Amino acid sequence: MKYLLYSFLGFILMLASSPLLGQSCDDPVPDWPNVLTAKQVNKFISSNMDRASPSFNLRIKFHVLRETDGSTGPNASDVNAQVAFLSNHFSPHNITYTQDPINFIDNSDYVDNAYVDNLGGYVQFTKDVLYPAHGATNRLDVFVWPTEFGFLAGNAIAIPNDYMAISEVKFAPYWEDHIAHEIGHCLNLLHTHQNYQLSCPNDAKEQVDGDNCETAGDRCCDTNASWNLDQCNWNSSNCTYNDTNRKDCENAIYTPDLNNVMSYAGPCRTLFTMDQRNRMWAELSFGSKGPALLVCNNTLAVSGTIEEGLYSATTSVSCNGVANSGTNVVLSAGSKITFSPGAKLSSGSKVKAVLNGCSGN
Ligand SMILES: [Zn+2]
Repeated sequence: MKYLLYSFLGFILMLASSPLLGQSCDDPVPDWPNVLTAKQVNKFISSNMDRASPSFNLRIKFHVLRETDGSTGPNASDVNAQVAFLSNHFSPHNITYTQDPINFIDNSDYVDNAYVDNLGGYVQFTKDVLYPAHGATNRLDVFVWPTEFGFLAGNAIAIPNDYMAISEVKFAPYWEDHIAHEIGHCLNLLHTHQNYQLSCPNDAKEQVDGDNCETAGDRCCDTNASWNLDQCNWNSSNCTYNDTNRKDCENAIYTPDLNNVMSYAGPCRTLFTMDQRNRMWAELSFGSKGPALLVCNNTLAVSGTIEEGLYSATTSVSCNGVANSGTNVVLSAGSKITFSPGAKLSSGSKVKAVLNGCSGN
């Protein structure tokens, strides 16, 4: 890692530690070795996020499977509506999407052959056939199965991941938050009920009192422990939880968050928490899949009043903007960061310049 240090009279330049942290092995998940630990996420946030709020723009591409004659599946406006839902869920957390042109895959053999077992067949087919043929590592690929093939669900296939499968069924109003749920998995989020099925005692099973929240369950401390809501008594009309039978290893009754996107609470799901946001930011910054999903320009010109945040480009960033006092800015480029006449870094502003750049596309 190399740093460029610019020193101006009266200007302050902050030099921070590298945002690239190594994966550690203190809390491995056998099934998903690249799920981040809470320790990794917290270390990243505390060492980086006090200086600037990052923003992330992900490239996303929808692949819509249809019969050979194109007679099935969602149309372009249906897909665009999903992208709008994503914007609702993620933009409050500074995560936005750039959509590539939709790829319509008109091949009856694909859909008929994949839908053999009614359940997991479409997932395996997405993994084995569709992603190798149509996917790419520099974007999030979403493979959409038409409603006509039954009640398929959605599946991120791995955590994290750069592709997922979802059914058009999940585009219906009742399920419209589901695509955010699957992308949450792609960005390193676990279910709020993760490990609920483990027999007691088990350290990986989250307690209602939250004592083990960093290492158990979903590893997020601001999401309540939960049983799998598919097996609980709750009301999808008024979003209330009424189950007193499901209890944790200490015999405490669960009080799950029905509004959390990573739960199984159907239409009640509306939000991600701060810990979940931090986990997604960490994945996008140094995780095994996230950085490659980011849209990067080759060059970036920063001008005018510089808003707080991260400004990154693959090769170079040029700056002639004004950073007012109290503004925290990170400039990141692969090889060159320049300040041209007109640039003004006011006393009390903090500007970090890092020769790292975005590794996206
Ligand atoms: Zn899920």
